[in-house]
Amino acid sequence: MLLVLEAESIIFNLVRTPDAGRDVESVGLLAANGRILAVPVSSDLDFPHWDNSAMDGYAVLYDDVAGCSPSEPATLDIIEEIPAGVKPRREIQPGQAARILTGSMMPAGADTVVMQEETRREGSRVSVLAPPAGRGAFVRHRGAFYKAGTPLLPEGIALGAPEIAVLAQARLAQVPVWRRPMVAILSTGSELVTPDRPLQPGQIADSNQYALAAAVANAGGVPLPLGIVEDDRQALAGAIARAVAGADVVLSTGGVSVGDCDYVEEILEKLGAETHIRSVDMKPGKPLTVARFPARASGREVLYFGLPGNPVSTLVTFWRFVGPALKKLAGLKDGWGPVFVRARSRQELRSDGKRESYLWGKLELVDGAWEFEKAGGSHSSGNLINLALCSGLAVVPVGETLIPAGELVLGMPVG
Ligand code: AMP
Ligand code: MG
Repeated sequence: MLLVLEAESIIFNLVRTPDAGRDVESVGLLAANGRILAVPVSSDLDFPHWDNSAMDGYAVLYDDVAGCSPSEPATLDIIEEIPAGVKPRREIQPGQAARILTGSMMPAGADTVVMQEETRREGSRVSVLAPPAGRGAFVRHRGAFYKAGTPLLPEGIALGAPEIAVLAQARLAQVPVWRRPMVAILSTGSELVTPDRPLQPGQIADSNQYALAAAVANAGGVPLPLGIVEDDRQALAGAIARAVAGADVVLSTGGVSVGDCDYVEEILEKLGAETHIRSVDMKPGKPLTVARFPARASGREVLYFGLPGNPVSTLVTFWRFVGPALKKLAGLKDGWGPVFVRARSRQELRSDGKRESYLWGKLELVDGAWEFEKAGGSHSSGNLINLALCSGLAVVPVGETLIPAGELVLGMPVG
């Protein structure tokens, strides 16, 4: 049996990062949200593209207005109006000014902008009533924010609103992103039926399929729900072989403990997978199978996670291991690992001390500090009902049996 940290390191080392030759696709800017940039981006444009005004006001020569005051204003001739999007036509000479708007191009000759509030307009002349802060005041200089040809965005970042804005300014209408990992999902168990079917005595609805499809999508993968497979060696072998043929990762639930119908491990070995993990010292989540199918003709290797069937164990092992693995596989460079925070527990937390225990509840920021509120009701791994509305897990380490109320515990935000 492996410690959680040992299992984590085996799993994360098994995950390959995407391949620049095979795994890049191009999407439009509107489809880029949440995708991961596959190549470093630079621009052949400076930002700003040209000197421009940061204010509505007047473009002037600093030396004309440096000594002015309300009692001795500097009065200048307005020789041009420069609206947004228009190239100025005339060069400003001493004693002259141009009316300018925020973002408009600076005219040649001018080196400073005075804001409108510090001026008085009189027909085709303007009086400047207060000196600007210095030469260059309220001018945004060409290249001040970014120099053409230098790195703009690195590979491996998740694209959100600000990065997409930068890509649009760089005029990259099509964005190279890593393709999303395809994640096949199988529910094993002869007691399972889809939620739209009547239940016969002894049957339960398959919830893991749907929970995992949502969790996979949240982690940046494409879920391929392949349905329910009964506890039958042949049916299971066929379903696993089909799943492996069409995915980068296969998730199955159930059939990995020591029950009479737990066939997953033996089938994986028959199909040629190397098994790396059989069980992990955690609660819930002990029976966890992790295997790898070596690359075949397709050139892809396939990771297989046989997750425990109990609905809570399924999600806890997903959150702890599979979600981060999928984010790494999806090409995220930083921040793919599990996130932990120190949280004050509002209740006492108990564990048997033998395995790393995960309790579920609300993990929330209160006045800037994390707090954990354990979910009411049973913390049996079969009880998924009180998992709803949970936002985090509290981790009680091996060797600890009690964390008193008000003490700090390791919290793991989930969702
Ligand atoms: P197993 O690991 O196959 O022994 O399953 C452990 C427990 O989880 C059993 O009570 C199963 O009925 C339940 N279970 C297994 N798979 C699912 C599923 N897909 N949805 C809901 N419960 C499940
Ligand atoms: Mg089962």
